[in-house]
Order: sequence, then structure tokens, then C-alpha cells
Amino acid sequence: MSSLPGPVDPARLRSVLDGRWAGVRDAHREHLDERFLPVYGETGDQARERISRLLGELPVELGIGAGFPTEYGGGADVGGSIVAIEMLAQVDLSLMVKAGVQWGLFGGAVAALGTRRHHDAYLRDIIAGRIFGCFAMTETGHGSDVQQLRTTCVYDPRTETFDLHTPHEAARKDYIGNAARDGRMAVVFAQLVTGGRRHGVHAWLVPIRDERGDPLPGVTIGDAGPKAGLLGVDNGRLSFAHVRVPRDMLLDRYAQVAADGTYSSPIENDSRRFFTMLGTLVRGRVSVGGAASAATKSALTIAVRYGDIRRQFGAPDADREVLLNDYLAHQRKLLPALATTYALTFAQSELVTALAEVQGDDGTADEHRQRQLESRAAGLKAAQTWHATRTIQMCREACGGAGYLAENRLPGLKADTDVFTTFEGDNTVLLQLVAKGLLTGYRDEFGSLDGWGRASFVAEQVREMVLERTAARSLIERLISAVPGRDDEVAVTDRGWHLKVFEDRERHLLDGAVRRLRNGAATKKDRPFDIFNDVQDHVLAVAAAHIDRVTLEAFVAGIETATDPATRALLSRVCDLYALSVIETHKGWLLEHGRLTPARAKAITGVVNGLLKELRPHMRTLVDGFAIPDSWLHCAVLREEPGRQGTMAAHDTADHP
Ligand SMILES: Cc1cc2nc3c(=O)[nH]c(=O)nc-3n(C[C@H](O)[C@H](O)[C@H](O)COP(=O)(O)OP(=O)(O)OC[C@H]3O[C@@H](n4cnc5c(N)ncnc54)[C@H](O)[C@@H]3O)c2cc1C
Repeated sequence: MSSLPGPVDPARLRSVLDGRWAGVRDAHREHLDERFLPVYGETGDQARERISRLLGELPVELGIGAGFPTEYGGGADVGGSIVAIEMLAQVDLSLMVKAGVQWGLFGGAVAALGTRRHHDAYLRDIIAGRIFGCFAMTETGHGSDVQQLRTTCVYDPRTETFDLHTPHEAARKDYIGNAARDGRMAVVFAQLVTGGRRHGVHAWLVPIRDERGDPLPGVTIGDAGPKAGLLGVDNGRLSFAHVRVPRDMLLDRYAQVAADGTYSSPIENDSRRFFTMLGTLVRGRVSVGGAASAATKSALTIAVRYGDIRRQFGAPDADREVLLNDYLAHQRKLLPALATTYALTFAQSELVTALAEVQGDDGTADEHRQRQLESRAAGLKAAQTWHATRTIQMCREACGGAGYLAENRLPGLKADTDVFTTFEGDNTVLLQLVAKGLLTGYRDEFGSLDGWGRASFVAEQVREMVLERTAARSLIERLISAVPGRDDEVAVTDRGWHLKVFEDRERHLLDGAVRRLRNGAATKKDRPFDIFNDVQDHVLAVAAAHIDRVTLEAFVAGIETATDPATRALLSRVCDLYALSVIETHKGWLLEHGRLTPARAKAITGVVNGLLKELRPHMRTLVDGFAIPDSWLHCAVLREEPGRQGTMAAHDTADHP
């Protein structure tokens, strides 16, 4: 391993990380000033008031409605709209979620599920923020399994209206963003019934408040109450008592109900139709994953910069106490998390590019690419939100007592991102979706997420997957094929070896899951639930291994986009750290399965420590590469930098928080 060349200009990292939508990122950096930053210590009412006001004040230069067609005032730039949400997440997470609900979920559902007449009537006002709305899917009784929603919408041909009804308490719409205070309309998901037949879950555009903001007749609106975070978002509850909804308010891109009540849809199977509808809403998931990484970058920037000014304990013969970032234990916390954040940034970039390609034109794409996109979006949402939760907590601890004070930002980041692992799809449920996409027999039969239990016969047909490679296909194949047969002949920093280990782990886990599912199908024929439930842990491990591989491959491809040799060398070393950190984490499994010898496993720990030492001088550069404006960090302890720099003489005892 050659040593790293000298310092790298953070601007070069920035240009690699900013990528294709650098212009959108720069517009945010330029136009979002202090007014848009979180206010510490405000009440829930104050936060809601402030966020609602700021939503209307977002500078037009940001192109917040970028994802919509130009004819309604959008920018026809799907990727740009996702990046805009990511950028808002570095400013204020309530603002980001509120914008995500309005333009992503609500507006996105009208655009994706509605047809021309809905677009003509509403999209312009939605984009301009003249109609605020909600995305009302979840019910108190059903959040993950939304196919089982209990709200009904029954068509009556005599009045040519639907009867929207909440039959019982568990069918109440719950947690709904924009419902408690600002929403005037809602996209409501319910079971469609016509001519006495159920056709599964569909969506309607339903007014919920009048011009004065009072609930419309038959609509009951409640407040979801105090939450752990996201104080500025008005989450609420909605119930409907036989509310009449005109026939043309059915968002009817995927299914139509004629005046006489005749139902028609180009997709016959109820389940397939519903998951096709959900698939068009994939942008929400992509945004949440990206926003989680954006918040993680804020936390890491604060922790790394604090670790560069905060000193504790003295080294013998030194006249100054030691900087936190000089401790190996501190580097062990921050640097692998930083490396993973870089890796996920490249994976997210690839995902946004794929989204822009698949949905960029008229929102239609071949089914295979659409499914692949959904699976990737689900997996990266889970990976990025879990990484955010873990890393922000770690950064909080890395800043000691200072990390616990609201004025230093980290408590807010922690509280506000916590729920990202749950909304837009619970992570565990999403990983099952990823795994199902890899079990080709299952995927071909059902297309997407469906109850495990119904598919006992599919388990018998499950086949091994063909690894679908990411960008830089040929590069990755070349690197892997250059790895010699015997592991001990190749350095643990060899990129081809990393790729091979990641690929082997995924393939081995998948083969094992397939074998166990087939055996289960043979012996538990009458217990379809058990066939899948008994291998659920294994299936989740397959999904996690898959996401790890996709992420590493994206990092490898991302390095190729750096033109400056020093920047490439630094990124390559960060990639080594990412790959070896994952290998270290799964050392037990790799040893158990003969993928790693004990000697090599031990060597990896030493190599990781060496990498930490080598990357230590670049820690600040690596966070500066995120290019978060100083004022956006909104962190008191960084503004007081000089006051924290104790000398042995002035600070010979520990600080008291
Ligand atoms: C702040 C906030 C804002 C929200 N905003 C909106 C909104 O605007 N619109 C909207 O429609 N919804 C919204 N939601 C709802 C959100 O999408 C749901 O909470 C989420 O989908 C999870 O559903 P649930 O709460 O019913 O959890 P559950 O589905 O009950 O899950 C609980 C636990 O069970 C586990 N679990 C569930 N099924 C399985 C399984 N098959 N196998 C293994 N484990 C399983 C999960 O992993 C999880 O740990 C919001 C929620 C919150 C908290």
C-alpha cells in the first residue's frame, strides 16, 4: 500500500460528491440563510407556525417543485427534486419533511396516480403551495401491511359518488403529515368497492378543510400529539363519516370506475395493481434515504471539527493535552462511519440517476428496471436511515456533554432522524422486499412485496439469482478476475479481493436461503407461514449483504469520476476503510464459512488501524468535502472554537459540562 500524497483540496472532493446535480446543491447553499435554520427550545406550536411560514418563503431559485412537469410550473427534473430535499435536510429536518409531504408525497401521488383532469385542476396550485395536502395511507391498525387498510370507499351509481367511510377506530388515518394544521386536501387510500365487489386499495383526492381551515362535514381531524422530534410537522389523524366523494376524484391512472359502476383496470390482479401504484411513489423512499445521509454528514462534520479542537488528558512530555481526534478509539468511531457515509453517498447518487432515467420522461419504464429501482430504493433507504441513527448517536457521544446540548445541533438531528427508519416503509419490512427481489422465482410470480404466507408453492420454484451488477460493470469484473485463487496471495487492501468477498458473502447467503426455503417447502407444505418465517433472519441477512455489495460497487465506480490523482488516492483509501470495516464487522461469519483464515482476520484489524492513522490528517478534509456551509451547522461549540483549546497549564483538570 503506497502512502497517501499530500493534502487534498476539499473542493475537489466536493465536486465528486456533488455530482450531476451540483447546481441544485449550490443554489441551496447560496439561498438558504439563517432564517431557515432550526430554532432551539421552541414549543411545538411555535415550530409548526415557523415551518409553515418558511415553506411559503422557500426561494424560487431552489426549484422545489422540480420533479413536476414544466406545463404546471415544475422543472421536469426528478433527480433535482430529490437532491433539493437532501439539501433541505441539512438546514432543518422539519422543513425537509414538511416539503417532502407537500411536494413529494401529496403532489407526487396526484401526479403519479391521477390523470390529466386532476393534473389540470390541481397540480399548478399544489406546486405553488396554494393547496396544502396530505398523503393519508397509514391507519392506526395497519402501517406496514397497507394492503389490509380498512377504510372503505363504496361507489353509488345513483349519485355517481363514492362513500368514503372509516368503519372503526383502527381504520382511522394516523400519523398523517400536514393533517393536524395545514392540509386542505388529502390523497386518501381506501378499499374500493363497486357493484358489491372489492377491488383492493385505491386512492382518491379528497378535500378535508374549508377555506377558513375548519374540517368539512363528515371529516374528523385530530392531532397525533407531541412527538420525539420533527416538532415543526403537524402530524394528525383523519376519520371519515360517509363522506361523499365525486366519481372523478378517484385518482384513476391505474383503474377506472364508469358512471354505472363498471370497474376496469389494465392490471387485472389486485395485488399487482396495488404494488404497481406504490412503485410509482418510489421517490419518497429515495428522498428519505438521501435526507438521512445528509443529516449524517452534518453530525459527522460537527463531531470531526469538535474532535479537532477539544483536548482531553495529556501525553507524557507534551505541553498540550491530546486532541480527541488523535485517539485511536476516537478515530475508530468517526472514520469508519465517515467511510460508510462516502460509500452510501455514491450509492445514493447512482440511485437518483437511475430514478431520473426510469421516471424522467413520462413515468413509464420497463417493468424489470422499475422493479430493480424499487428494490434498490428500499435497500438504500434502510441502509442510510440505520446508518444515520447509529452515526448520529455515535457523534453525540463523541462530543461528550457538549453533544447533549440542543445548541450544538446533535440532539435535534438525533430526534428528527429517528423516525426515518420507520416512515416511508419500516426498514425490516423493506429488507424483505429487497430479498424477495433476489429470489427470482418469487419475484417472477408476485412481482413485489406480498404476504409471505400465500406463496408456499413459490418456495419450491425459488431459483438462484444472477448477480445484477451496478455501474462500472466491466471494471468490477476485471478487478475480481485479477484476484488469485488463494487468498493469502493477495493483499487485504486489494480492491478485487474486497469485491470478491462481498460478492461471495451475498451469493453464499442467498444460496443458503434458497436451499432452506426449498427444504421448508418440501416438509412444511401445510404451514406456508412457517416456510418463510423460519428463514426470516437468513433472508434479512441476504438483503443486507446485497446492499453492502451494491454500495461497495457504487463507491468503486464513484472513484473513477475523480480526475485529480490525489483525490482519487484519498477516496481509494477511504474505500479500503469502508470495505475492511464491513469485512471486520462480519469477521465471525466469514471465518465460520471458511471465507477468511484466522491469520488474515487478525491482519485486517492491524490494517484498519493503519488506515486510521493514515487518514487522520485528512479527517477535516473529508468532512469539508461535504461542503456544508458553516452557518448551516448551527452549532454553538464550533463558534467558540478558540475557547476550547486548553493548554496543560490552563486546563489541567477535566472540563465540567
Ligand atoms: C412522524 C411520522 C410521520 C408519518 N407520516 C405519514 C404520512 O404522512 N402518511 C402516511 O400514510 N403514513 C405516515 N406515517 C406512518 C408510517 O409510514 C408507519 O408508521 C410505518 O409504515 C410503519 O407502520 P406501523 O407504525 O404500523 O408499524 P408496524 O407495521 O406495526 O411495525 C412495528 C414493528 O413490527 C415489525 N414488523 C411488521 N411487519 C413485520 C414482518 N412482516 N416481519 C417482521 N417484522 C415486522 C416492524 O419491523 C416494526 O419493528 C408516519 C409515521 C410517523 C411516525
